[in-house]
Amino acid sequence: MNTADTAWTTRYTHAVMDTFGPPQRVLVRGEGCHVWDTEGKRYLDLLSGIAVNALGHAHPALTAAVSKQWATLGHISNFFASEPQIELAETLLRLGQAPKGSRVFFANSGTEALEAAFKMARRVGGRILALEGAFHGRTMGALALTHKAAYREPFEPLPAGVEHLPLGDLSALAAAFSPAVVAERGPVAALFIEPIQGEAGVCSLPPGYLSAARELTAAAGALLIADEVQTGMGRTGAWFAHQLPEIGEGIIPDVLTLAKGLGGGYPIGAAVAFGERAATLLGRGQHGTTFGGNPAAAAAALAVIKAIEDDNLLDNAISVGNLLRTEIEATKPPLVKEVRGAGLLLAVILTQPVAAQVVTAALDSGFIMNAVTPDAIRLAPPLILTAEQAQEAVRFFAEVTIEEKTP
Ligand SMILES: *Cc1c(COP(=O)(O)O)cnc(C)c1O
Repeated sequence: MNTADTAWTTRYTHAVMDTFGPPQRVLVRGEGCHVWDTEGKRYLDLLSGIAVNALGHAHPALTAAVSKQWATLGHISNFFASEPQIELAETLLRLGQAPKGSRVFFANSGTEALEAAFKMARRVGGRILALEGAFHGRTMGALALTHKAAYREPFEPLPAGVEHLPLGDLSALAAAFSPAVVAERGPVAALFIEPIQGEAGVCSLPPGYLSAARELTAAAGALLIADEVQTGMGRTGAWFAHQLPEIGEGIIPDVLTLAKGLGGGYPIGAAVAFGERAATLLGRGQHGTTFGGNPAAAAAALAVIKAIEDDNLLDNAISVGNLLRTEIEATKPPLVKEVRGAGLLLAVILTQPVAAQVVTAALDSGFIMNAVTPDAIRLAPPLILTAEQAQEAVRFFAEVTIEEKTP
């Protein structure tokens, strides 16, 4: 950290609540896949604000769309409708290949999208299932779905009725729906699943898991809720990860939650309800938001979607993601065990629990990445990342060394 950064960081710690720990750098500017700190040092952003800046920083089309909408009509409340909001709802239904009767609720973040889905599950009534390792957000309802004890325990009691099943265990999943368990504990209202668990360290489900989940929930009249806040909006190389043949096997969920990449950095979340039944679980007055779906946020999301379509960024996510994965593994860096994930949501798994040190070394070398677990580095770069930029990351991993700690 340079001296200007240090001065700002001191001011930060005196004025901003310490929920995140000290900031790694103070950033002043971004363009494309790069950001700059207070001293003009440039970083290749391989995290994009945690899988958010799909179009990188200061993308001309996104900047123009938000500026134009803001100068025209920025916020109106949900007493009124706007053209961008309606168009965005229709577009999300198209991308999700949603059947007739499907509808969208707009929110401002991932956790709020999950709150909407949680309330839909409550309207069905019954037990709510989520998976071990799950991350669904930090508000109280979403937190009840999140698994990590350190996030939950300081805030108990949380909304009741959520059970966490062992990750990827098909027999445990079937057992939760079995007549014996249902007789003892009641019917299942909903099952929440991240097609790839991002916060847990980019962990995939075994093949067949999502389709088994689809069959079991459908037979029980329970909702299958795909939390694609992190995996959605092209991140994995499909619009939504459940659409990837190797992950979703063609299933359609009842509810799809989105945020992160949706607005390309402009805060917006959505809960997409598939089919008339899911779409009418929340009736008039049963849910609401002041900001959700405002014209400026909707215009941002429409611009992101248009750029992904116009510039073939789904294909780019697959090809550059494959390049990162295969090239990092091919150079056989001593610190790297494997690379996992899909598209441009990847984790570089290390042979030792030194992810934090590697991230510090990366910053010094001009790369932003994230130590998602002690032995996993998450890469979630902008979907516009080029092959040349990916090669820079490959070279970093090939060369990085960590100083042995003196015992
Ligand atoms: C980030 C995330 C959330 C929470 O989103 P926020 O916008 O931080 O509230 C929920 N679910 C998943 C899968 C996430 O990755």
